[in-house]
Amino acid sequence: MANLIFVLLALTAFFVLAMSRASFRAWAIAVAIFTVSLQIGLGFPLWTFLGWLAAGLLFAASIPDVKRKYITLPAYSALKGVMPAISETEREALEAGTAGWDAELFSGTPDFAKLRCVPPITLTDEERAFLDGPTVELCKRLSDWRIRHELHDVPDDIWRFVCDHGFLGMLISKEHGGLGFSAQAQSLILGKISSKSPDGVTIVMVPNSLGPGELIEKYGTETQKAHYLPRLAHGEEIPCFALTGPFSGSDAASMRDVGVVTKGMHDGKETLGIKLTWDKRYITLAPKATLLGLAFRLFDPDNHLGKGEDVGITLALIPTDHEGVEIGRRHLPAGAAFPNGPTKGRDVFVPIDWIIGGPERSGQGWRMLMSCLAAGRSISLPATSAAAAKAMALRSTAYARIRKQFGLPIGFMEGVEEPLARLVENAYGLEAARAVTASMVSAGEKPAVISALLKYLSTERMRQSVNDALDIHGGRGICDGPSNYIQGAYQMVPVGITVEGANILTRTLIAFAQGALRSHPYLFAEIEALQDTDRDRGIETFEKTFDNHRAFLFSNATGALFHNLTFGSVASAPQNAGDTTRWWRQLSRAARSFALVADLTVVLLGGGLKVKQKITGRTADALAELYLLSTILKRYEDDGRPAGDRLIVDYCARNCLARFDTALRGVIDNFPVRWAAWLIGPLVLPFGVRRPARDKAGKDIVRLALQPGAFRDRLTREIFTSEGEEGTGLLEQTLVKVVACEEAEKKLERAIRKGEVKRFYNNDWIKEAEAKGVLSAEEARDLAELRDLVARVIAVDDFAASELAREKTTDKTASDPHQQHIAAE
Ligand SMILES: Cc1cc2nc3c(=O)[nH]c(=O)nc-3n(C[C@H](O)[C@H](O)[C@H](O)COP(=O)(O)OP(=O)(O)OC[C@H]3O[C@@H](n4cnc5c(N)ncnc54)[C@H](O)[C@@H]3O)c2cc1C
Repeated sequence: MANLIFVLLALTAFFVLAMSRASFRAWAIAVAIFTVSLQIGLGFPLWTFLGWLAAGLLFAASIPDVKRKYITLPAYSALKGVMPAISETEREALEAGTAGWDAELFSGTPDFAKLRCVPPITLTDEERAFLDGPTVELCKRLSDWRIRHELHDVPDDIWRFVCDHGFLGMLISKEHGGLGFSAQAQSLILGKISSKSPDGVTIVMVPNSLGPGELIEKYGTETQKAHYLPRLAHGEEIPCFALTGPFSGSDAASMRDVGVVTKGMHDGKETLGIKLTWDKRYITLAPKATLLGLAFRLFDPDNHLGKGEDVGITLALIPTDHEGVEIGRRHLPAGAAFPNGPTKGRDVFVPIDWIIGGPERSGQGWRMLMSCLAAGRSISLPATSAAAAKAMALRSTAYARIRKQFGLPIGFMEGVEEPLARLVENAYGLEAARAVTASMVSAGEKPAVISALLKYLSTERMRQSVNDALDIHGGRGICDGPSNYIQGAYQMVPVGITVEGANILTRTLIAFAQGALRSHPYLFAEIEALQDTDRDRGIETFEKTFDNHRAFLFSNATGALFHNLTFGSVASAPQNAGDTTRWWRQLSRAARSFALVADLTVVLLGGGLKVKQKITGRTADALAELYLLSTILKRYEDDGRPAGDRLIVDYCARNCLARFDTALRGVIDNFPVRWAAWLIGPLVLPFGVRRPARDKAGKDIVRLALQPGAFRDRLTREIFTSEGEEGTGLLEQTLVKVVACEEAEKKLERAIRKGEVKRFYNNDWIKEAEAKGVLSAEEARDLAELRDLVARVIAVDDFAASELAREKTTDKTASDPHQQHIAAE
């Protein structure tokens, strides 16, 4: 018994020291006390000899000179060669945004109060009125089919409507003539429009995301603000922003577009300016734009600007009617119809004060772009992805309840239940992540890492939802036409995946590899110290951060083991968390494991962090699951913990944790150093990977979503549905009728199966059933109405061949990119 108490006391002391990140001296004293106790009980065998040796070494390590010589300097030399180097453009990207909840997750001990104090969805009266008024009106006017197929363009009346109502100036401040809406309001407005027309939302989204408007608002000179912002806000200028070129896609900073500071003639006067040559492609709105935002590398051989010869990446505003600007031709991105195209210019002279922010801002272009991207990437694509997920869940649950095969609604079949459960989960989760992140941005954050995580997470899940919706709709989703409500979203999927940082790159390189540098409590400072050209100062700083880092790593290893062995049952949870306390605890437990694995990943990969992308991709997945779970728990609280949502929260939480464990398992199994895998595996996953939610839980949430009611309404909030029996309104109306007629339908089906009533086209089987007393008159009337509604819901469009024939093009000027590039080379 005494021995047991002794062991328990020793373990407790070890745990407390590790968790409190104790100094070497504290450890030395603790080990000495432990060894004395051993010696009293056991005499002086090998055990106690080892104890004294450990205490002695720990004590020595606590002496500053010894620590410097035998720990700090060897670690400094070893890590200097292997830690990832940070380039100037990376540094600017890293310093551009803010670190918030991501840093809490990286810490291993997230402070839940920081997440809970993010405000719930809040709109001003004006924003709410705009969402329910002009936004709904715009949705009613948008005809997805007409835009995608008939015009292959966004029609003028839609452009006029969005310009007249200020849609293009949502992010421009009121002071400068814009609407000055919050990030949350912009996100909801964009989501609603995209649920009606993905092409339609693009013309609103681009001016309200990374582009001239935001750049001028943040960095423009007073003259630029006074001139351009009111014009942009009212749609008198249509902006586009050109960064990407044929040879600089994901690696945009390697652009070949160049400007040289020189004197030239402008408006009949000799002026200091820039001679520009550029070749850009994929530029959204370029064919319609009147104002081109352009990124290029600026050189100043005569040092007019006093910044040396290579000034750096610079941004300028160029009216598209300026002499030499080539613009107007179109690409055809995945068959979508929003304007997108290339732009070029050769030796185009522009005055120096066309630089955004004036000559003082020359060379700061990359930092300006990254700063805007950190906020913008958190809004537009998450908004449209969440809207697509919600819309696909809304339409698919209605269709699956209406469409019958083998005498059953297809939604009641287990095979269909599976994708339906994914749709419901994605709709709930993506809306949670969208809403919470938009509130963070509304509160002033510019979340650099979260925006990257959310970009790839939301667009990937959106892709899954659209594919699931198509599977569930079968031929009804495939055959295009005015009544098809999936194809518009389907065509836009690859666009969302590719823009604002293509997903493969964003997942494998940015979200974790750069995320770790941005959000880890010590890593960035350590690398800065290792790269410091002043060696003594570098070693000084390195020692401090390395000491903290070592204690941090050890406390996370201990914490992870403890919480994993105790199943997170005593992990921290916020106060008053009510029925989700257990999930908060699991989040806490998972954050410990993540912090440990993330830390070791960085240490083990070192300079290979940017190369070992299969590992960093999985680490990013793990972080994404933690973020998603955090926002799901937060959403549930923000929504007032509706009892009806408890099942979906449990379902999402289980799946997030199972995917989190699977991602960590993949990371650990592929650590390049085998001993690390053997050592860390038992700490992080002592009982293996957690199981996802059971099939029964999936059935429960799908059954809830298959009927009209509060759960379904909350799940698919702020999605546009047409009124009455038109378009998507028809689906909702038919769903209500299907549920109301369920009992009568069963009677009819039984009679048909028994052969009492014949269901063939040449027979009115409902009348026959009424005549034979199977159905009452009222039931027969309802079923007849339902039969007509269902026929319209499942109908697909067909066309005369002449209707489908597009005008044959004989345009000999259509560019052959292959030939062009040969010429350019
Ligand atoms: C419809 C549409 C609209 C657009 N609108 C605009 C706009 O308005 N303005 C603008 O400037 N640009 C715009 N773009 C460009 C967009 O930002 C780029 O397409 C994107 O950055 C990717 O560049 P890329 O297409 O050249 O692909 P590439 O850079 O050639 O990449 C190809 C693949 O390789 C992957 N990859 C590349 N490097 C790495 C790496 N280091 N690690 C791992 N994977 C990597 C990418 O993830 C991608 O999957 C638009 C593009 C499209 C398609």
